[in-house]
Amino acid sequence: MSRKQMKNFIRTPKSGLSQVTATQRLAEVGANELVASRPMPLWRKVWQHLRDVSSLVLLFAVGLASYMAIAHDGGWTKSIVIGSILVINVAIGLYQEASAEKALAALKSMSLPTTTVRRDDVAQTVAAKDIVPADLVLLKAGDQVPADAVVLTSTNLAIDEAVLTGESVPVNKLAMTDLDGANDDQQVFAGTAVTAGTGVIQVTTTGMATELGQIAGLLNQTKRRATPLQGRLNRLSGWLTAFAVTGGLVIFALSVWAQNQGIADSLMIGISLAVAAVPETLPIIVTISLAHGVKRMAKRHAIMRRVSAVETIGGVDVIASDKTGTLTQNKMTITKFWTPSTGVAAADAALTPASRDLMRYLGLATNAEIQHVAGTEQTVGDPTELSIVRWLAQHELTRDDLEVDAPRLAEDPFDSTKKMMATVHQLNDREKLVIVKGALDRLPVDQTAASYAAAKRAHDQFGAAALRVLAVGYRIVPTETDLVWASLLTDLTLAGIVGIIDPPRPEVYAAIQAAKDAGIQPVMITGDHLVTATAIAKDIGILNAGQQVISGAELNRLSDQDLTARIKDIAVYARVSPQDKIRIVQAWQATGATVAMTGDGVNDAPALKAADVGIAMGITGTEVSKGAADMILTDDNFATIMTAVKEGRTVYQNILKAVEFLVGVNFAQIFLMVGAVMFGWGAPLLAEQLLIINVLADGIPGFYLSREPGEAATMQQPPISNEESLLARGLGQRLAVRAVTFTLLTLGVYALGRFGLTTNQAPVGMTMVFMVLAIGSMIDIYAIKDRQPLTWASLRRNPRLNQALLAGILVVLALGLVPGLQSWFGLVNLAGLNWLIILVAVFVPTMVLELNKRRQQRQVTVAELTE
Ligand code: ADP
Ligand code: MG
Repeated sequence: MSRKQMKNFIRTPKSGLSQVTATQRLAEVGANELVASRPMPLWRKVWQHLRDVSSLVLLFAVGLASYMAIAHDGGWTKSIVIGSILVINVAIGLYQEASAEKALAALKSMSLPTTTVRRDDVAQTVAAKDIVPADLVLLKAGDQVPADAVVLTSTNLAIDEAVLTGESVPVNKLAMTDLDGANDDQQVFAGTAVTAGTGVIQVTTTGMATELGQIAGLLNQTKRRATPLQGRLNRLSGWLTAFAVTGGLVIFALSVWAQNQGIADSLMIGISLAVAAVPETLPIIVTISLAHGVKRMAKRHAIMRRVSAVETIGGVDVIASDKTGTLTQNKMTITKFWTPSTGVAAADAALTPASRDLMRYLGLATNAEIQHVAGTEQTVGDPTELSIVRWLAQHELTRDDLEVDAPRLAEDPFDSTKKMMATVHQLNDREKLVIVKGALDRLPVDQTAASYAAAKRAHDQFGAAALRVLAVGYRIVPTETDLVWASLLTDLTLAGIVGIIDPPRPEVYAAIQAAKDAGIQPVMITGDHLVTATAIAKDIGILNAGQQVISGAELNRLSDQDLTARIKDIAVYARVSPQDKIRIVQAWQATGATVAMTGDGVNDAPALKAADVGIAMGITGTEVSKGAADMILTDDNFATIMTAVKEGRTVYQNILKAVEFLVGVNFAQIFLMVGAVMFGWGAPLLAEQLLIINVLADGIPGFYLSREPGEAATMQQPPISNEESLLARGLGQRLAVRAVTFTLLTLGVYALGRFGLTTNQAPVGMTMVFMVLAIGSMIDIYAIKDRQPLTWASLRRNPRLNQALLAGILVVLALGLVPGLQSWFGLVNLAGLNWLIILVAVFVPTMVLELNKRRQQRQVTVAELTE
């Protein structure tokens, strides 16, 4: 903060701003967000579409037609028709883009970060974008700093400022002492992460005025990057465009030399062929499919923070998941306990002196709270600790009751690396009470004592029953003892242990099975004890015969090479620290696998970034972990990850289907035109006919393919690598079948119409080819949209597609039947027999594709039988 800014700085009262002031100020200074680049005005969007190759070529065609109208008195119909097609093309492009953008914008608002402020003396969670200068923000470990601010109070507040400085060692922040100016270590900056401690800060600047905002301002100017799949499709489009342009040139040349057509006419037909055969809708279909996937995922509790993650999640080979809360319900209840004097007992039994003591120590060392607001239970704090609060409540006790006789003096907070926490209480004027609660093996008690051996037996018994175990120890020290944790936390007496049940989420069983069916290996990662982890992993099906469980200690003894060599056999990691996760991710990646990894704490952020898909928890996750993730589960549920995988795979499939749909017919159009000209029949379709087929039969139905729900079989196949060729898995073969079918069919229909049914009447052949190509290539989308043989159910599955197709077919029929339109598009009246032939012919491609499907299926089953 500069000196000048400092002058305006008046310390906000302890109670914070009033809500009224905050609202007012928000209206004045604007939202606390990094504004993405300004929305593009409509004319610029239109201009961008006009700059497309196919638009430019169409514009040229309009010019050419107008020239012919003037120079050769050819009439203005062609110019008007092609001009309208150009307008329709641009309009469709704009509409499709807007619908994709809308889906993505809605998404952005769903993953907005939140923060805790004190206003009107009430601590409350608000969206970070509503923070205003002078707000008091309460920070704790795991939070993201929402705006630039000065530090008012600090309790060991440490901040990772790597986003701004690149330096990842956390900086300790101190409370500001001099009202005239704050030093660097008394200020915090938007976008940085709290790694430890707590503090209160007062906001000085928000939004684009923050340090981060100034950098983001520069970033806005960089281009949006294409996702890997978009990149591959753009390359495919490039090849197809080259092919289409070559086709156009060939037609032009043939028609000039072989047919002695005029240059202008030949040019027109060459141009139209090129326009029709360029797959200009491909890139936009990818964007739309991704956007749709994102929208569907959001509805089902998976928020994507990066669009390209939609692609990646469909291709994951491994899902490494936290246990507590993700695989389990996080509704923890103490069911059993053990003390040295009573041995193992049920938690709901009447209290004895020993169990009362155990409960008291646990309660004193707990921070969680259960409040009853308007009849509903609201919980604050760690779910493990909530089980203690509930146990107290069962026996009509609260934490406050316990603290009357032993007020808390200090706390050493829980941390999933240490796996324990400690508190100190004042017992009376002579004594203090030290309590440590945490994992039994981490407790600073005499681990050689007989009572410890008994505790260990009880611990293993609890663990084997899938219970989570919490141990507690205590020590009474003279009141003058210094509060130095290292010396306080020695020689404790073990008070006892409790066994906490945390049942698996019911939907997890099916989700694990689904993962296995889809060729994905589920892996459990937990800070819990090996015995407990093993029991739960077996129960839910993560741990199977031949697979291993490994502890954090053992993991640390393995070299990276050894870990990579064994990684595929390890299904459960127990007693690990967040720092170990990154090694697990990297070992998997070293085998070439695509890894999804979950995490919720600040320490998980590096692993989330390293993973191909980092997954954060919407409910229990820290802001930092959410900021590092590609995907956020709003219900913290493992099953949701599998839903996202299915959506990701569906998006990929739908894009491949769009490729198949668009590309096959484009080839056929080129072959048809070139073939007919080579037979000496002249062009079998007019420029405007080719163009309208392109708009109706390609643009519209292709767009609705992105809404196609997933096929059941997508989750029965192993993951597809993101690097795999688009034409793999039979797509190339299917494209060829379709292109050949259409080429032969249209050439045949043309010959029949022109020479068979009439005596050399080209317009009759032309009208029939138009009908067959337009309608036939629309309805065979049904054969493409399902890899499985068609059924009634699949025909009805995508109503929007059906409506679009019906509309398209009606337009085509209108063109062929309504007198005015008919002549505009160079079409003529047909006899009943011709219509009958068209009716049969339009179904031929669908039939061929369906037969091809069945033949391939038979081959697969035969291959399976002979294996
Ligand atoms: P998980 O990966 O299952 O969430 P944690 O790292 O949270 O595991 O916990 C590991 C161990 O630390 C638990 O088995 C338990 O013994 C202990 N523990 C968990 N939460 C607390 C807590 N709030 N206070 C003290 N000890 C805890
Ligand atoms: Mg935990």
